[in-house]
Amino acid sequence: MSNNMAPESYPMNGGDGIYSYTKNSYLQREATNVVKAMTDDAIIKKFDVKKFSSTSENTLRIADLGCSVGPNTFIAMQNIIDVVQQKYQSQGLATHMPEFQVFFNDHASNDFNTLFTSLPPERPYFATGVPGSFYGRLFPESSLHFVHSSYALQWLSKVPEELQNKNSAAWNKGRIHYANANAPDEVAHAYTSQFTKDMTTFLDTRAKELVVGGLMVLLMPGIPNGIPRSSGLLRVTFDFLGLSLMDMANEGLISEAQVDSFNFPIYVASPKEMRQLVERNGCFVIEKMEMTCPHSRVDGPSSQEVTMHLRAGMGGVISKHFGDEIIDEVFDRFYKKHEEFSSLPESKNMEATQLFIALKRV
Ligand code: SAH
Repeated sequence: MSNNMAPESYPMNGGDGIYSYTKNSYLQREATNVVKAMTDDAIIKKFDVKKFSSTSENTLRIADLGCSVGPNTFIAMQNIIDVVQQKYQSQGLATHMPEFQVFFNDHASNDFNTLFTSLPPERPYFATGVPGSFYGRLFPESSLHFVHSSYALQWLSKVPEELQNKNSAAWNKGRIHYANANAPDEVAHAYTSQFTKDMTTFLDTRAKELVVGGLMVLLMPGIPNGIPRSSGLLRVTFDFLGLSLMDMANEGLISEAQVDSFNFPIYVASPKEMRQLVERNGCFVIEKMEMTCPHSRVDGPSSQEVTMHLRAGMGGVISKHFGDEIIDEVFDRFYKKHEEFSSLPESKNMEATQLFIALKRV
């Protein structure tokens, strides 16, 4: 599946059709709403607008890393700016109100056309698109005041190399992820070491780009400390997708070898792992790190909603490997498995599946 010419990228479904990310990302939006209060609080308590307003330059620069196509990114950026403006007002700095510049970052293969054409006409900022991987430098040194990233850092820069090698102990035969039942420990180790490398690069590069006093707010799928990797959201997502693909291989619709060589480049970290990586980096103070529940509805999302969201977000990776023609079938099967699972009592206790982190550059 890898293409040696371009970096790995796994864009969400573009456009605005029924399977698009634009139409199938309101669960991520709910997730962002749930943590809005925490983001607001970090800005109110920790964002040093006095300091920023005393420099001669009067532009505040905000980046959304892994912004996809909207509308979630627009809502998140608007929220941040609203709260920062309120803070300027409440600190008596209204006359120093900065201008805002927002950098929308994603892989070059992201559908930036849809993003740009749907920008809110009445926005309080100058919009800029920044193509490229956030696992590398994207901005000049000390040029950003605020970095935001939501539901993007679970994507690894690539599938760990050991998983591509048939002779390696990390060859994940008949499975598609480390969270699958019976995946060898070597598979999980290979994922963990890839995540460690990627997150180390992410933190190092952001440390260079953020001004001292700048804030970074990260929202990502997470797994509570000390619980087995093959549980909760991870199990549901990857077991059901893996089983769907294996069933199709058994029925001869795809080849088993194709399933063996396929693995999702997705990692779900615990707060403990993130804390260690941030501490090792040494340039940030952890203002808040907390597992939260991504939805505010009592019942959580329906199987239909989960399937559509998963398809918008992960369908691209699957079609890149197996071809477009099998996508309907994969997600039909996933849906049925999810529907069966939804009737079980255990489906109701998967609350804390996302990790909120607020870091301050010191
Ligand atoms: N932040 C949005 C979109 C999340 S979808 C929301 O909360 O709804 C995740 C996005 O991250 C995708 O658009 C994907 O292309 C992007 N992404 C994944 N890895 C990336 C990387 N290394 N660099 C930049 N963007 C990346």
